[in-house]
Amino acid sequence: MTLSNLERKIIEGSLRDIKDFPKPGIVFKDITTLLNNAEAFGVTMNHLYQRYKEYNLDYIAGIDARGFIFGAALAQMLGIGFVPIRKKGKLPYTTISEKYSLEYGFDEIEIHIDAFSAKPNARVLLMDDLIATGGTANAAARLINQAGASCVEACFIIALTFLEGQKNLQNITPVYSLIEVA
Ligand code: AMP
Repeated sequence: MTLSNLERKIIEGSLRDIKDFPKPGIVFKDITTLLNNAEAFGVTMNHLYQRYKEYNLDYIAGIDARGFIFGAALAQMLGIGFVPIRKKGKLPYTTISEKYSLEYGFDEIEIHIDAFSAKPNARVLLMDDLIATGGTANAAARLINQAGASCVEACFIIALTFLEGQKNLQNITPVYSLIEVA
């Protein structure tokens, strides 16, 4: 199931572009204007619910920090658990971690080692607000699989298709993005 034209218009109209944030040359896609627009947030969450209610998911794993907002809300709607994937050093229990490359240097994300242990071979949806190069989501999908679960799809509100992150991620997991920005 994909978005209707009306749903797409409402969501696209609620997003805000911030030029040169956090540094010159970057156009930052601001989703806070979607979140504080009740109609747009409702249309987004209802669409995600309609798409994923048939997926037999066991968990949603959300990426720090904006993936937590959509991921946790959707997990509640579906009646399943939520798992945070966080920047290194934030999770209190034993973790598994994955490094990924940035424009300059590396970053690292972590998941709790027992995040999915209540359900063997858990079916997990990965959720974030936006995919750019796909480095973060690739590392997150690997973490889900290393923690003993199966990443059955990765979902984003926005994909920056000119950066080809979606294409790379498709080698690991199916990808669904509500809005594509070329
Ligand atoms: P990447 O690993 O390159 O796919 O970057 C994805 C992460 O960085 C996501 O968690 C996004 O929230 C954030 N991000 C990257 N580029 C942008 C952008 N142009 N606007 C908003 N968020 C971005």
